[in-house]
Amino acid sequence: MTTRTVLVTGGNRGIGRAIAEQFIADGHRVAVTSRSGDGGPDGALTVQADVTDAATIDRAFSEVEAALGPIEVLVANAGITKDALLLRMTEDDFGQVIDTNLTGVFRVIKRASKGMLKARFGRVVLISSVVGLYGSPGQVNYAAAKSGLVGIARSLTRELGGRGITANVVAPGFIETDMTAALPEKTQAEYLGAIPAGRFGRVDEVAKVTAWLSGDDAGYISGAVIPVDGGLGMGH
Ligand code: NDP
Repeated sequence: MTTRTVLVTGGNRGIGRAIAEQFIADGHRVAVTSRSGDGGPDGALTVQADVTDAATIDRAFSEVEAALGPIEVLVANAGITKDALLLRMTEDDFGQVIDTNLTGVFRVIKRASKGMLKARFGRVVLISSVVGLYGSPGQVNYAAAKSGLVGIARSLTRELGGRGITANVVAPGFIETDMTAALPEKTQAEYLGAIPAGRFGRVDEVAKVTAWLSGDDAGYISGAVIPVDGGLGMGH
């Protein structure tokens, strides 16, 4: 296994934190961003960044590069929901989710690509969602952003694939975190009934797939959408 420098956005809790912990356990040099600048797992360098603010991203990347070297693996994980049925969704609800979950990913990839192009090596993993291609009532903003990540990964693959850079999407289903705990019990029960595996997913199940996609064995996989959803989104 080659030891890499890894940056995970939103690594202070939930799926991002589990991903960072997996990379640490695998022996990599790991940095996480958090909005407050602390709260990352033991063994990671935690830097402050808000993905809606390019200046904070630039500063965070520079800090990580100075401490750990050029970023070779980027996991764009930070994300939010602002759910509402279409007629009740405000333009602000729509815009905030796009700004964080889609434009935020563009901002971090753009900053990361400089070093990756220079090194002629890079692994980009975008944390999307089953909802991106499956759809979900009350989530037109979230689904628009998450499906947009597929277009980003595939365009990046065509643009940068010849320079040793891969870009893939991980599409989790219903994973037990703060984000899903906030859903009404009725919605949780409906999801559970629709998941062929008959259970919700765990953060470590997303983390292990993400780490594998970033590793030496996955060098010929790019532009792929890898579901981690217990079968919920099959065929989408
Ligand atoms: P959480 O709500 O538990 O954590 C979200 C993380 O994103 C936090 O670290 C949060 O930081 C960070 N974040 C949010 N907005 C910003 C911002 N503007 N700038 C920087 N960081 C930000 O979510 P999950 O762990 O559940 O989700 C992680 C990712 O996985 C998201 O992209 C989500 O859409 C996706 N996902 C989750 C699923 C699930 O079932 N849980 C299913 C499918 C996809 P802070 O602590 O400061 O708020």
